[in-house]
Amino acid sequence: MHQLIDSHCHWDHPRLQSLQPQLWQSCLDQGVTQLVVPATKESSFARQISLCEQYPNWHLALGLHPYFSNQHTQAHLTVLTAAIERHKPLAIGEIGLDFALDMSLEGFSIAHQEAWFVAQVKLAQHTQLPLIIHSRKANDRLGQLLRQLNFNQGGIVHGFSGSLQQAEKFTHLGFKIGIGGNLTYERAQAMRRLAQTLPLTDMVLETDAPDMPMAGQERGQPNRPDMLPRVLLVLAELRSESLSEIAMQTVKNTLDALRIN
Ligand SMILES: [Zn+2]
Repeated sequence: MHQLIDSHCHWDHPRLQSLQPQLWQSCLDQGVTQLVVPATKESSFARQISLCEQYPNWHLALGLHPYFSNQHTQAHLTVLTAAIERHKPLAIGEIGLDFALDMSLEGFSIAHQEAWFVAQVKLAQHTQLPLIIHSRKANDRLGQLLRQLNFNQGGIVHGFSGSLQQAEKFTHLGFKIGIGGNLTYERAQAMRRLAQTLPLTDMVLETDAPDMPMAGQERGQPNRPDMLPRVLLVLAELRSESLSEIAMQTVKNTLDALRIN
C-alpha cells in the first residue's frame, strides 16, 4: 500500500458525507491519508470549515468557483477575505474559468467569470497563498491573466485537460498539474499521452470526488477519494515507473505546491 494525498476532493459534499464514517476508514485502508478540500461557494464555507477543523489531514481551501459565478456577490468576497484571515486555508480555490458553461444563461458571462477570478488572484497575492484552479476550455486565457497579474505563488491546476504546451505554461508559472480519474478511461488518449510526457515532478493526483466518475463505476455512483489508488495504478502502467516512486513524488509535489509541512 502506498501513501497518497487526494489533492482535490469535495469532502464536505453530502454525497460523500453520507458515506461516513466508513468512507474515511476505507481511505486510510487504501493509503489515502490526506485530502485537500476545495470550496465552491460561500454558502458551503461554514460546513467545510467545521469539517476540516475536525481532523488535521483534511486540508481546507476556500474560494468562489466559476460554476456559481452567477450567485457570487461582493459580500461573499468579503466573507472569503475574513474567513482566510480567521481560518487560514492553505490555498484559495477552487477558482478559475469555465468556458464550457452555457453563457447564454442568466448571470453568466466571460467578463463576470474573469472578474471573480482576478479579484481572488489579487486576494491570493495579498495573503501570499497558492491557488487551486479550475480550467475548462480556458487554459490560454488563465495563463494570460496569471502572467498579466504577475502571480507567482503557484498552486495546482486541477483536473487538467489540454495540450502539453498549455500544461508547460502552467508549470513554468509554478503550478502542478492535477491528474485524476479521467486517466482511467482507455479512450482518454490525449490525456494518457500527456501523463506519459509530463515530468513526474509536475504532477499531483486527485479524484475530484464526488464528481468525475472513474472508468467502470456504476452509473450514478459517486467518485470517492478511496479510489485514488486506481489513478496511481494507471499512471504507473503508462509511465513504466514504480507505484512507490510515483506515490512518493506526487505526494511531495502536493505538499510543496500547498506548502504543507
Ligand atoms: Zn472541484
